[in-house]
Amino acid sequence: MKEIILVKNGELVLKGLNRNSFEDVLIKNMKRHLADIGAFTFTKSQSTIMVEPENEDTDLDDAVDALKKVFGIAALSRAAVCEKDMADIIRTAKEYLEDELLMAKTFKVEAKRSDKKFPFNSPQICRELGGEILKAFHNLKVDVHNPDIIVTVEVRDKYAFVRGNNIKGAGGMPTGTSGRAAVLISGGIDSPVAAYMMAKRGIELISIHFASPPYTSELAEMKVMELLKKVAAYSGTITTYVVPFTGIQEAIRDYCPEDYFTLVMRRIMMQISEAIALKQNCQALITGESVGQVASQTIYALGCTDSATDIPVFRPCIGMDKDEIIAISRKIDTFETSIQPYEDCCTVFTPKHPKTKPKVQDVIDAENKIPNLDEMIKTATENVKRVFIR
Ligand code: ATP
Ligand code: MG
Repeated sequence: MKEIILVKNGELVLKGLNRNSFEDVLIKNMKRHLADIGAFTFTKSQSTIMVEPENEDTDLDDAVDALKKVFGIAALSRAAVCEKDMADIIRTAKEYLEDELLMAKTFKVEAKRSDKKFPFNSPQICRELGGEILKAFHNLKVDVHNPDIIVTVEVRDKYAFVRGNNIKGAGGMPTGTSGRAAVLISGGIDSPVAAYMMAKRGIELISIHFASPPYTSELAEMKVMELLKKVAAYSGTITTYVVPFTGIQEAIRDYCPEDYFTLVMRRIMMQISEAIALKQNCQALITGESVGQVASQTIYALGCTDSATDIPVFRPCIGMDKDEIIAISRKIDTFETSIQPYEDCCTVFTPKHPKTKPKVQDVIDAENKIPNLDEMIKTATENVKRVFIR
């Protein structure tokens, strides 16, 4: 039996004239996610994209798993292809969906007929097929409101398709349709979640990581790369810039009042990130900050960090509780990696009593105590190590 995958666009439907180019980006992203699985042809038709394997032995389970990570897909399903003939539709539905129909207690049939020449209209298709299913599966009753399985028949121009329940897609917008941003990635729980959330809105990601060897270890950096790989499974390749940060952190320790260590460091991280982001054609920065989570994330501290840059800073976790962030990190499979205990540069030289209500000017005054800071920022920005994560 010939099988294909039917993909339903999400919010793309709302995009009017842009819809076509959005769909083209979505198809390009699907191709990339399916590249290791096999060759497929893609056909656009209304708000559905038909994904057809070119070889019969292509594993559609793998293909569905890969497509579940593509943003811009609201729902997808495997479907059997059959002739535009009521008897063939009935035979195919009973055979193709046998396992699901045997497991279910209730069902309903839905029909969509884009070929108006087909001799049965939609209510007639539902009645005919529904009656035959009831005859063949004595375990089943019809429930039109909350059925265990919805058997859907779509009669299109060349063929009819029969499918069971939809599988939920990753949602959001196709990566690459909303511009480009740089995520500041640590080894923690929050920043990979923040990266995922913004990629879901269609943003193409690059990432920036600050490393302070020997205070931070090689293992900490490897952990970050592992996290990015998990995010890249959704977002596509993430070009990553590792910034050598040791010298600047030592200068902060040597010249700034201790209470201000973290705040000065965060402002400098933002300035370096902005420079890299602009050079790489990004329109914004992304962080995993959340109000009140730590001293450097009070509303006052965030004001100090925010004033260090001119481009927008997106903080998608800002209003979330830790358990809500953790739920997403489990869903995208970053949690177990994030909780491995390696030192981040943020936990090197932490003050005993960090300021929780800092004034922007006081932090800038502290920052200005560092001699040749502009030069150091320039050097660090120029000496980044570039890694491609896919
Ligand atoms: P996370 O769980 O993402 O590490 P956190 O709650 O531990 O966040 P902080 O350590 O204060 O918070 O960091 C706040 C944000 O700053 C992070 O979400 C991340 O965006 C950025 N950040 C922290 N450390 C680094 C780093 N070494 N390199 C790049 N960005 C970082
Ligand atoms: Mg952290």
